[in-house]
Amino acid sequence: MFPNSFEYIAPTTLGEAVELLQRYGYDAKLLAGGQSLLPMMKLRVAAPPILIDINGIDELKGWREENSFLRIGALTRHSELEHAAELRDRYPLLAETAVWIADPLVRNLGTVCGSLAHADPASDWGAAMLALHAQVEAVGPGGKRQIPIDDFFVDTFTPALEENEIATAVLVPTPTGRAAGRYLKIERKAGDFAIAGLAIHVELDSDGIVTVAGFGICACGPVPLRGKRAEEYLLGKKLTPETIEAVSRLVPEDSDPTDDLRGSAEYKRDVLRVFAKRGLSDIAKELQGEVVLR
Ligand SMILES: Cc1cc2nc3c(=O)[nH]c(=O)nc-3n(C[C@H](O)[C@H](O)[C@H](O)COP(=O)(O)OP(=O)(O)OC[C@H]3O[C@@H](n4cnc5c(N)ncnc54)[C@H](O)[C@@H]3O)c2cc1C
Repeated sequence: MFPNSFEYIAPTTLGEAVELLQRYGYDAKLLAGGQSLLPMMKLRVAAPPILIDINGIDELKGWREENSFLRIGALTRHSELEHAAELRDRYPLLAETAVWIADPLVRNLGTVCGSLAHADPASDWGAAMLALHAQVEAVGPGGKRQIPIDDFFVDTFTPALEENEIATAVLVPTPTGRAAGRYLKIERKAGDFAIAGLAIHVELDSDGIVTVAGFGICACGPVPLRGKRAEEYLLGKKLTPETIEAVSRLVPEDSDPTDDLRGSAEYKRDVLRVFAKRGLSDIAKELQGEVVLR
């Protein structure tokens, strides 16, 4: 199906884009990778009269480390993080997650910030950014603000962005200790959205004590969810068979899945339990210097 007709505007500066959003309000939609918006427009689920294409805004491109964060610009594509060898050691969860999103065609166009702004409960980046304790940087007519990822997913397909704001970057804290991450996802077929997904990020100090723990769950609730109970339990402990077992039982407690064609709520909770145990066991081995086969 063809989308409704629309006016297309392609600003080249952030200021111009914000001004356009301010002028057109709810009539305008930002176009980033187009991998969620365009299918919705073709299905006529969305019919914005004005599209503001942000792909020509250079200041939204690329990533850099600054002020103890990795700043991932809004136009960073999924595939860029999949292939960024220089980020593998310190931010392993990024490549771990990116490779699970859709297929190479979607990954070459879709953006991390577009995925977060779309606020799909099954967003793989939603789970990963929760595990990484990230923040979303947003710019609007009033200036810049940072939104903790826990406050970002207001409801299904509803991010905490005003209609005149642009998500300009996602900020991932730079690890202070040894870091490891895993993304585990079960899908009906390769390239599909998750039936259930779990992102895990762990940092250890030199004594092997967990100083940062992050668990992000997707497709098991109205928004991506934090595995808060598991995080609180694991902080200050070592990764042992006992603590890993305990965490695997706590992660599903923070999920809120429903029965659907992809599986029952009980099944999805059990998948999360298995994922937590498998992912953390691999992380424990990796941080002890063992080579873990994928
Ligand atoms: C076949 C297919 C399979 C897919 N499979 C998966 C999958 O397995 N896992 C997964 O997580 N995702 C999947 N996706 C979704 C994909 O990840 C999208 O790329 C992503 O959700 C949206 O990013 P985008 O840059 O394409 O955003 P767009 O489609 O351009 O925009 C999406 C929404 O976000 C808004 N927006 C975009 N950028 C910004 C910004 N910087 N600031 C404010 N608002 C903004 C737009 O206005 C729009 O409302 C799939 C998509 C397709 C087509």
